[in-house]
Amino acid sequence: MKDFSELKAIFEAQGHPSFRANQLLHDVCQRGVADYKDMSNLPVTLRDYLNENLPILSIEEKQSSVAVDGSVRKVLFRCKKDGKKIEAVLMRFKDGRRTVCVSSQVGCAMGCSFCATGKMGFKRNLTYEEISDQVLYFASDIRSYGETISNVVFMGMGEPFNNYDNVMRAVRFLNDARGLNIGARNITLSTSGVVPGILKLMDDGLQVNLAISLHAPNQELRESMMPVAKKYGLDELMDAVTKYTNKTHRRVSYEYVMIAGVNDDLSLAHQLGNLIEGQLCHVNLIPYNLTDGNKFKRSLNRKMDDFVKILETYRVPTTIRVSLGQDIDAACGQLAGGKV
Ligand code: SAH
Ligand code: SF4
Repeated sequence: MKDFSELKAIFEAQGHPSFRANQLLHDVCQRGVADYKDMSNLPVTLRDYLNENLPILSIEEKQSSVAVDGSVRKVLFRCKKDGKKIEAVLMRFKDGRRTVCVSSQVGCAMGCSFCATGKMGFKRNLTYEEISDQVLYFASDIRSYGETISNVVFMGMGEPFNNYDNVMRAVRFLNDARGLNIGARNITLSTSGVVPGILKLMDDGLQVNLAISLHAPNQELRESMMPVAKKYGLDELMDAVTKYTNKTHRRVSYEYVMIAGVNDDLSLAHQLGNLIEGQLCHVNLIPYNLTDGNKFKRSLNRKMDDFVKILETYRVPTTIRVSLGQDIDAACGQLAGGKV
């Protein structure tokens, strides 16, 4: 749905007071009303106008699948404006978190060698509405059993910082107390290392979390896995992170996908420790998830444990990410907007 400022402009143009925008946001986001006819607090003329001209959601469910243990639900959405397909995932963690992993683009231009989305190429940016609607959809879905969305991660399809303005507008919408009211601290943006985006976020003043997909501790290896590293080299990236943490005092997370024989040699754990030692950071090791036509294998658990131990000697807090949803291709890097 549209955000407050857009709704307000639409209502004023139709001769209705702007508080109607608050009412609509409240009805949809906080009461879960899914049909204008159930919004009895709005005048009939306005309801008729909205019904004709302003669909509540800009996307619709095409297909959905649920992991065997019920912890993950992946939905394939169709964008109403042009039929493009995107995917989003709801994760229901044992600790009570209800996290939606959203897409920010249709496809992705970055072409990382290990990622299913990267293989699709780039189709288009999502609008802010198409991004926040992925969360709204799951919010109304789980409301029926008394649950609410606690967290949002931009780790679906696309590079959020290649669609900065729409992503930040969606973040503000999700954060809006009149709407879903999801705390900025519970929202995470993940970037492959688009330096201008990191610097913009630093000046944006929002308390969102920043995750950097690092995946390699030296320029040569990083370039071979992620073409973006040719444009924004590792030195420049580290420089941007330092500026970011100095200014915001916020801890960044480094994502490090563990691929057997590619980036999991223990000497690389030492290199990584040396590279980020002393930074305000945290490392997430992500066990590699299989993708179609993949040529990679996941690192052995023992390797990942050794990585953790080595990084701890550099006093870098490190965790191995629990990977949910692999049985339905809903885990990190497996979203490709088609086969559900
Ligand atoms: N484009 C952004 C956000 C989406 S990807 C980014 O790259 O940061 C979310 C995370 O999943 C990234 O850290 C990405 O590198 C990782 N990822 C991609 N493919 C993966 C795979 N096959 N297995 C595990 N993680 C993967
Ligand atoms: Fe794009 Fe992220 Fe996949 Fe790289 S890992 S291709 S940046 S979605």
